[in-house]
Amino acid sequence: MTTTATSIPDQKKVGMVSLGCPKALVDSERILTRLRADGYAMSPDYAGADVVLVNTCGFLDSAKEESLQAIGEAIAENGRVIVTGCMGEEADAIRAAHPSVLAVTGAHQYEAVVEAVHTHAPPSQGPYVDLIPQHPYDEAGIKLTPRHYSYLKISEGCNHSCAFCIIPQLRGKLASRRIDAVLREAEKLVAAGTKELLVISQDTSAYGVDTRHEAREWKGHDVRAHMTDLARELGGLHTGDGTPPWVRLHYVYPYPHVDQVIPLMAEGLLTPYLDIPFQHAAPSVLKRMKRPANEAKVLERLRNWREICPEIAIRSSFVVGFPGETEEDFRYLLDWLEEAQLDRVGGFRFEEVEGAAANALPDPVPEAVKEERYARLMEVTERISAAKLAGKIGRTIPVIVDEVGAPDEDGDIGATGRSQADAPEIDGQVFLRDVGPDLGPGDIVEVSIEDADAHDLFGVPAAR
Ligand code: SF4
Repeated sequence: MTTTATSIPDQKKVGMVSLGCPKALVDSERILTRLRADGYAMSPDYAGADVVLVNTCGFLDSAKEESLQAIGEAIAENGRVIVTGCMGEEADAIRAAHPSVLAVTGAHQYEAVVEAVHTHAPPSQGPYVDLIPQHPYDEAGIKLTPRHYSYLKISEGCNHSCAFCIIPQLRGKLASRRIDAVLREAEKLVAAGTKELLVISQDTSAYGVDTRHEAREWKGHDVRAHMTDLARELGGLHTGDGTPPWVRLHYVYPYPHVDQVIPLMAEGLLTPYLDIPFQHAAPSVLKRMKRPANEAKVLERLRNWREICPEIAIRSSFVVGFPGETEEDFRYLLDWLEEAQLDRVGGFRFEEVEGAAANALPDPVPEAVKEERYARLMEVTERISAAKLAGKIGRTIPVIVDEVGAPDEDGDIGATGRSQADAPEIDGQVFLRDVGPDLGPGDIVEVSIEDADAHDLFGVPAAR
């Protein structure tokens, strides 16, 4: 369980188990922030909690299974469990497996889940509870990520209908947050110590489409709810030491206006990193997948982006074994990857998701073929990654520190961090040796790269 703890007599305590993607993590943070404002404390363990919230993921069958297991564990350890999140849409399945859950609410239903907590663990009324001190880190709400990086969610839902996805059914149509609210949250996060902002949504390039890119006043000028305006404003923020935070854009579809954010990366206003979930390259597969922004000139645009900003790292994910994918389609994907030279690639074998349109498509790919293609995909992408990382040996690059170890028997201290090409959790790491005793999480240091493997870099802080 991931929580913070505060101890005031009689104060009701809530435990939280947060599963799923960064978007679900942001939901957990919002729920806990709201509960804290209502007078609840967070319990770091099952035993101390008056009620346990399980924020579930319901995307793949394997995620549902994990969610049901987590609910079972919380019931066994505590007994008083409220379920929320994506799998909450399947209340019957949850109740069938675990009849004793106190309440089930769906994704994005903050009011309902908070109300359920109030019902099953009414907040204490007392002199202490009104005086709950606000921890300085909590100025922007409770965070479940380390202090130095934060997810910034700019919208909910999605207007597309990709054949393998049920997000629009689970989370509804695109609903963008107001640009001034997003920027206020970002400013507070940075003031509270965030050094890296990770912009997330289901479709970041579509931000503001639903509000016709409504402009709001921000710091004396109008700013539109649009990815490029957002990127420019975020790039203008300053952390406590006067440097700009790293700002990463995730889930960006390659609509034409994405070209406008590349110069901001070249200027140093945005982290030179784009997470674009291409999913495939073969036109026939993309068509059957019903992917947005599925256009032929992606390779040419990648080349242009690299000309404008040579440091740019492109991350993507790909699905192999989508129904109807032929050996020829798959080879097209491999050839495309050789050309595209992406920096980071995640691979998935196609899995049926209950309720997804793709389930009805003809020509399913046998499991053994999926496995074989997956292995070939990984072989190609790891080779490309290893060559790209080897090219960094001998260079000095900025690294954000995530963790600092204890001194070993010789007094040497190691640390782990990430380069600008590495988002937390999903990309590689930089392993540092012989760091100074003053180094801490969130510090950004120049590092001389000494070695590399297929995913990670190894180095030492550069001499000043
Ligand atoms: S763009 Fe496609 S894959 Fe992404 S959330 Fe929307 S429907 Fe799902």
